[in-house]
Amino acid sequence: MSDEHFDAVIVGSGFGGSVMAYRLANAGLRVCLLERGKAYPPFSFPRAPFKLRSNFWDPSDGLYGMYNFWSFKGSGALVSAGLGGGSLIYANIIIRKDEKWFVKEDPSKDGYEYWPVTRADLDPHYDRIAQMMNIQKYPLQFKPYDATPKTLAMIDAARKMKAENPNLDLNWKPLNLAVSFRTKHVGHPDHPDDVNNPALVGEPIREDRPNYHGKTRYTCVLCGECDLGCNTGSKNTLDYTYISAAQYQDPPAEIRPLCEVKSIAPGDGGRGYIVTYVKHDPDRWNGQKADTSNETLFPRHRITCDRLVIAAGTYGSPYLLFKNWSSFPLLSQTLGSLFCVNADLLSFILKSREEKNGKLVPRVLDPNFGPVITGAIRLGDTLDGLGDQGRGFYVEDGGNPYLMSWASELTDFLGILRRAFLFGKRFLSYRIGLNRDADLDDEIANLIGDCKVSKSSLPVLTMGRDRPTGNLSFDGQYLNCDWSRKPSQDYYDRVRHVVKGIANALNAEYLDNPSYSYLHQVLTAHPLGGCPMGVTKDDGVTDSYGEVFDYPGLYVVDGSVLPGPVGPNPSMTIAAVSDRAADHIIQQAGRS
Ligand SMILES: Cc1cc2nc3c(=O)[nH]c(=O)nc-3n(C[C@H](O)[C@H](O)[C@H](O)COP(=O)(O)OP(=O)(O)OC[C@H]3O[C@@H](n4cnc5c(N)ncnc54)[C@H](O)[C@@H]3O)c2cc1C
Repeated sequence: MSDEHFDAVIVGSGFGGSVMAYRLANAGLRVCLLERGKAYPPFSFPRAPFKLRSNFWDPSDGLYGMYNFWSFKGSGALVSAGLGGGSLIYANIIIRKDEKWFVKEDPSKDGYEYWPVTRADLDPHYDRIAQMMNIQKYPLQFKPYDATPKTLAMIDAARKMKAENPNLDLNWKPLNLAVSFRTKHVGHPDHPDDVNNPALVGEPIREDRPNYHGKTRYTCVLCGECDLGCNTGSKNTLDYTYISAAQYQDPPAEIRPLCEVKSIAPGDGGRGYIVTYVKHDPDRWNGQKADTSNETLFPRHRITCDRLVIAAGTYGSPYLLFKNWSSFPLLSQTLGSLFCVNADLLSFILKSREEKNGKLVPRVLDPNFGPVITGAIRLGDTLDGLGDQGRGFYVEDGGNPYLMSWASELTDFLGILRRAFLFGKRFLSYRIGLNRDADLDDEIANLIGDCKVSKSSLPVLTMGRDRPTGNLSFDGQYLNCDWSRKPSQDYYDRVRHVVKGIANALNAEYLDNPSYSYLHQVLTAHPLGGCPMGVTKDDGVTDSYGEVFDYPGLYVVDGSVLPGPVGPNPSMTIAAVSDRAADHIIQQAGRS
């Protein structure tokens, strides 16, 4: 076992971990960032089916990829393993939690929510995140962005619904995206354009200094593949922003991908903390089953630190704490509590139609064009003070990669059979001499068909405020989650009603995702809670700075510390909470 010492060790490189690594390194602390997954430079994200099948994370089955999918009874979630955490697969939306949604309810109520921070506490941190992540709105004022069909359709739907229900608190708004549409950093999201910095498709990005990967990035090519990993490097993911910056500090942060933390414990004599981890070697183990608990095959490395920051995500952090609970006997009994799914719902708008020349024809929504999300229809909340609306939410246009559009075309099985028959007939007629025209272009185009399903349908992503009634638990080997949608059913009924209204406004059909309708399972991209921050140890694992009660110098800063749903997409709030915790650590270390 080697023994190294750092001022701070950070476990996990998602929004919580990367922000913390940069901030502490920037304050002059010696920092080590341990991340279980690989680093992904531009053009390293797989696309071919045979590569995608091994793009999952399960080292004991020889899988070292980026996706980590969890399926519990009432909920299922996708998270990520890789340098940059969820930013590698996320849809780039970086927005603040609504001011009035920082709920402070009575903790004696079942399913209560209590945020020990306010919007005013987080605003200065949100400002810093916005600057570092180079956020900007989708440049709808320019070509070809102005012709993005799915965005125009959502704007249209919101306008129609508002006209029909003037009292409904419903508005479409563009969202802030951490995507480079311009070749230079925008400076300020409200003033992104000057003549020397227009939005351009697929141009090399000019960076002030080489990024972590040392590779050229390109502006967004509008391919809808954000959730597969951005091969052009247009997404301002954490490896290009915070992690790259952390490397330029004095001393530079030590960044260690493929290092999975296995155990944590207080240091000798109660001073600091001890971390053990394994170094993964995909070149050796890819595709092979292996017992990763075998310390001969997977030797443990040990480091010590004055401060330990756990940022392993909503499942990873509670898992580490549960597994090592015997080393932390004073840990709050609330560990695992206040889990929620940020009220996510994935649904589909299918086969939209519009009237042209007196005829109803498919309306092109083209989910392949543009980044995965461009804007949202926001539905008001009782908390906004506009009457008894119910719980609020955001409905966002979804995009999908070409791969999915081709797959969705296969659902029209009868159409394929019919077209194949017609093509075969035409082909044969030439072969047996009944026809002398060898040019098959038109026939091949007809064989592909009119692509009605893929061109006029759209995934729709909704998120808002469910009740944080879920619990994560650990049976000594496996993590379990008992969240159920029942306490939030009123909310889900409202969401489905509104999204059906959007489908209606677009002359389309509405479809629930099959998991929701057949398995009673809500799929989420935003699991939150499990190590909630609270006011005391009776209602939280950590205080509002993410410091674990009764363990000075031990922090949790990621989605697991949020004590309830964010409402909108949560990354910016996770990052802001981490930035605020970093201020606290820096001050305690006497470096401010
Ligand atoms: C498809 C998709 C789209 C999304 N789109 C958006 C969006 O547009 N906007 C938004 O705000 N949010 C979005 N999200 C959610 C967002 O990605 C997460 O909320 C966010 O990444 C959570 O940040 P985190 O710091 O809590 O954890 P994560 O980002 O999950 O980071 C945790 C990191 O810890 C590492 N780790 C875990 N265990 C260990 C260990 N033992 N040792 C070392 N490392 C470990 C993991 O590999 C991971 O890299 C999306 C998510 C998905 C799946």
